[in-house]
Amino acid sequence: MITYAELSPQSVNIQPIDAPWLLNSRLDVLRLDKLHAIVSGNKWYKLKYYLANAIQIGANTLATFGGAYSNHIVATAYACNMAGLKSIGFIRGGEADSLTHTLVAAQGYGMQLEYITRTAYKNKEEIRSQHPQYFWVNEGGYGTDGALGASEILSLVPDMEKYTHIIAAVGTGTMLAGLIRASRPHQQVIGISSMKGNHSLENEISNLLEITPSAPFMISHDYHFGGYGSTPPELIGYITECWHNYGLPLDIIYTSKAFYGIQDMMGKGVFPPESNLLFIHSGGLQGNLSLNPGRLPFS
Ligand SMILES: *Cc1c(COP(=O)(O)O)cnc(C)c1O
Repeated sequence: MITYAELSPQSVNIQPIDAPWLLNSRLDVLRLDKLHAIVSGNKWYKLKYYLANAIQIGANTLATFGGAYSNHIVATAYACNMAGLKSIGFIRGGEADSLTHTLVAAQGYGMQLEYITRTAYKNKEEIRSQHPQYFWVNEGGYGTDGALGASEILSLVPDMEKYTHIIAAVGTGTMLAGLIRASRPHQQVIGISSMKGNHSLENEISNLLEITPSAPFMISHDYHFGGYGSTPPELIGYITECWHNYGLPLDIIYTSKAFYGIQDMMGKGVFPPESNLLFIHSGGLQGNLSLNPGRLPFS
């Protein structure tokens, strides 16, 4: 049994949102970001079964891929540290000009960093085959074990039955697959993609579902704000507004776009009257440190 110091699932709570645009529907936010200041949110859940498998087969090093701001990289470093595994992160984009806060944190948790060029990064299979002794985890934790771990997120929610829609941000779709697995037949799961035109997502999610979902899931591709790493002033403005209006801190890559998407879809009448929405705040706030200081009213 591994004990994970510093994680505080007891502080994960439900925050109701009071906003005029909700009309007569309701919106609750599952504050998974409160799990840990750095390893916040869904990455922890996605890693859980990979780590258990690595330990079970007696691996001593876990290796994975990610960018210089990756929530997955820092979460992997932390989780491996706690589990007594060595970790190696293959980082896209050559030697960074300076270490990002994400990479500093990952190194602080004992991760060894290997910088690889963007070209080499495209050929991950080759890198994996050069190091067969490592226990490999896909970029972003994509995979069925990741989805299995993510399916446990909804067990944090008291009164799950009352919700009509479960909404979350989507990168690889692993978390969404977990939410789909754990949702009830009367609930619709909606994912909001933070990438531009990532239309293979629907298939990638279906591939992670070992069973046909009892209700169809939906992915919106309309709220990427220019693409994965794009942080236009409108997005920063929206995050600032949500902080002032609801005391809700959102991240620049995932949760802000998804939350905006909920508001916009509400305005477009996508949700029937008196819907009861649950939004998963999947964390990722450490990524906001990539902004120049002072651009957001919280950190
Ligand atoms: C990684 C991440 C996601 C996306 O999770 P996937 O399982 O890759 O779809 C969503 N929100 C946050 C905050 C994340 O860090």
